[in-house]
Amino acid sequence: MRTLRTPAELRDTLTPHRRAGWRIGLVPTMGYLHEGHLSLVREARARADVVVASIFVNPIQFGPNEDLARYPRDEAGDSAKLRGAGCDVLYLPEAMYADDFSTHVEVGGPSAGLCGDRRPGHFRGVATVVAKLFHLVAPDVAVFGQKDYQQLAVLRRMVRDLDFDVEIVGCPIVREPDGLAMSSRNAYLSAEDRPRALALSQGLEAAARAMSAGERSPRRLEAIARAPLEAANLRVDYVEARDAMSLAPIEEPQGPIVIAVAAFVGATRLIDNRVMAP
Ligand code: AMP
Repeated sequence: MRTLRTPAELRDTLTPHRRAGWRIGLVPTMGYLHEGHLSLVREARARADVVVASIFVNPIQFGPNEDLARYPRDEAGDSAKLRGAGCDVLYLPEAMYADDFSTHVEVGGPSAGLCGDRRPGHFRGVATVVAKLFHLVAPDVAVFGQKDYQQLAVLRRMVRDLDFDVEIVGCPIVREPDGLAMSSRNAYLSAEDRPRALALSQGLEAAARAMSAGERSPRRLEAIARAPLEAANLRVDYVEARDAMSLAPIEEPQGPIVIAVAAFVGATRLIDNRVMAP
């Protein structure tokens, strides 16, 4: 695996591969990698001839009171994990934005509500950095996790609306054995908070069971998913049922729905979601 740090190095490395007709796969990340990230690398490995992973903690997707300064980092550990998962190129940019950077990608549609409302500017920052990575790497396929369900919808919309020639692949959420969705931010959880964090996946599991048993009301399913969060005394940011395809708010499920959850476990904001069909 080669580690590259500048756009020129990327271009010099990837252009010959592209000319040779090799398919390029991209997995953008913010590092502090876990099995969820590595599952994306393996998916890219299966779909492309050259796999590029990027690690960049993107400042423009963090709000002023968020965890940018303390976001966990482990360059050596991440490199070893990527090599083990079959990554060919690690892009660790020295810089991403000029001091007077002033161009952004604004995505409407699926960015409304949920994290889009609670984290103003977040998806604009995500879409902008992913658009830049798409230009730098020119991947044939890019792989993202359904853990960030709204992000995946936003990026699919951006690709469609701006005619990026890249296939977007979404991969299932990888969980800890007890059900907690893997996240770099789980590293923030104290020993007392770790069991309380289970309330997110348990609420979603309970809602999925209720839907299997015939419950169709989005509001009642939301209440079922919310109950364990309140029982664990977590500060709930949102619990919302949406149409799984369009992310539109729903009164009556017409097909599969997604319930998306965000809650603070102590000072740590975690998200999770689950798709369920009537
Ligand atoms: P991040 O490093 O948090 O920006 O995440 C990079 C990519 O990994 C995104 O596409 C995430 O959706 C994906 N990802 C993060 N956690 C998981 C997980 N537990 N399972 C699957 N994909 C994940």
